[in-house]
Amino acid sequence: MAQQYDLVVIGGGPGGYEAAIRAAQLGYKVACIEKRIHNGKPSMGGTCLNVGCIPSKALLDSSHRYESTQHDLQAHGIGTGDVSIDIATMQARKTKVVEQLTGGVAQLLKGNGIDWLQGTGKLLAGKKVEFIPLNGDEAQTLEPNYVILASGSVPVNIPVAPVDEALIVDSTGALAFDQVPATLGVIGAGVIGLELGSVWRRLGSQVVIFEALDSFLPMADKALAKETQKVLTKQGLDIRLNAKVTATETKDGKVTVKYNQAGEDKEQTFDKLIVCVGRKPYAEGLLSDDAGITLTERGFVQVDDQCKTSVDGVYAIGDLVRGPMLAHKAMEEGVMAVERIHGHAAQVNYDTIISVIYTFPEVAWVGLSEEAAKEKGIEVKTGQFPFAVNGRALAAGEPAGFVKFVADAKTDRLLGMHVLGSGAGDMVHQGMIALEFVSSVEDLQLMTFAHPTLSEAVHEAALSVDGRAIHAIQRKRK
Ligand code: FAD
Ligand code: NAD
Repeated sequence: MAQQYDLVVIGGGPGGYEAAIRAAQLGYKVACIEKRIHNGKPSMGGTCLNVGCIPSKALLDSSHRYESTQHDLQAHGIGTGDVSIDIATMQARKTKVVEQLTGGVAQLLKGNGIDWLQGTGKLLAGKKVEFIPLNGDEAQTLEPNYVILASGSVPVNIPVAPVDEALIVDSTGALAFDQVPATLGVIGAGVIGLELGSVWRRLGSQVVIFEALDSFLPMADKALAKETQKVLTKQGLDIRLNAKVTATETKDGKVTVKYNQAGEDKEQTFDKLIVCVGRKPYAEGLLSDDAGITLTERGFVQVDDQCKTSVDGVYAIGDLVRGPMLAHKAMEEGVMAVERIHGHAAQVNYDTIISVIYTFPEVAWVGLSEEAAKEKGIEVKTGQFPFAVNGRALAAGEPAGFVKFVADAKTDRLLGMHVLGSGAGDMVHQGMIALEFVSSVEDLQLMTFAHPTLSEAVHEAALSVDGRAIHAIQRKRK
């Protein structure tokens, strides 16, 4: 007879495995079904740990060190001689980091008494779950009290550039190149295009990014997007806006991209092409026809604000449901679903989910952009402070970028924080905490920030909202 579980989680990505662990902490008997095989072995951790957040950051770090060693050290008086990069070693390090973390998650599950069922899960009618083991053993039907669907997402494919895993790849293929392509095309100037485009540019590729929209990072604050585009372009990323790819052709080991830019047909040939035009929810084989789960038009599992689906006792979280496709959002939804099952009134605050683009400098924001706040009819006031006059940034030779605050002009309430700069992804958490505590700009102004730190730019940006930054000439008198 199949084991009786209180909770079955389908999918062992950041959403699924965190949900499983929290439920085990609360005393539930939990199984997590995960079917992924990575490098020939069953692997926990989902997209994020295997082919997403973690391997991309490992490569971003290696490539940043390589570029920085080549270009930044001379100014410090450090001579290095010729600097070289061994791609096989870089990739082996990435694999080691991934295996350390995926193995760590498997250990965490084991240590919490959670059964990792290696194989495919499918929700059936009446909240039952069919489990088909990877090893070919007979399928089992589980009858848990609760189910969490956490099957994640996959890349969007476009017919004009079909992924062939050789010349045309998606993000997974672009994380695994075994040599630096001399020329690299990228379709989509979104988060993946900018991060992976940066990795290979730093290692020596000439990178062209084709973006169909005529604006750059339209979801970001306009000032932040504008400065980011300037900085990345200066680094050598050739970002072509309003450039719609109409066809691709592979021939003699090269791929030609045909595109239309502002009405003009053009083409360019590359050694490799990355397609990163977004991701879509993955529910293939996840639901039997009579499972009773409602999907949205775009294929997401429909959920309410607490991640409840149309079936009582069944929750869905992470990339499979509405909202930003981010690991930390998936994690918090997983924990919320379990707390709800346990009767706690948990709630994810979707207004304070941080976005980070891990280029160098990093781009990060939380809360409302100036434009979004105005669209909501709020009278806003803003303040901005550049790292170019921050002592610590100058000492580190990293003067690019700024901190910007958006606040309600009438109430002084902080609405958003936007950062371009070294360590922006960490710094922006100060804004997230301030937003969670419903801080006013004055709250930040009255705090003491350590000197010399990059965070002093946070203080100065808050002061500059009222025209009183100390290390800038401000005309307002107050
Ligand atoms: P996933 O991580 O996709 O996990 C779902 C798991 O479910 C998969 O392992 C899949 O094998 C399994 N599964 C699916 N169906 C079944 C089934 N029927 N039975 C059993 N198992 C099943 N986000 C960030 O926040 N920060 C980043 O820096 C970042 N970088 C990224 C870089 C790249 C290149 C990519 C592609 C994504 C990145 N993301 C990042 C996004 C992040 O990876 C996702 O938002 C996150 O993984 C979503 O978590 P999840 O648990 O919902 O799903
Ligand atoms: P994205 O949505 O960030 O960007 C896709 C870009 O492609 C958009 O700018 C879009 O306008 C453009 N595009 C769409 N169709 C196009 C076409 N036919 N031709 C040219 N351009 C086209 O998607 P992504 O970069 O693929 O990333 C997928 C998801 O993964 C994102 O939602 C993101 O949240 C997540 N992710 C997050 C991080 C991070 O948090 N640092 C890193 C990587 C990925």
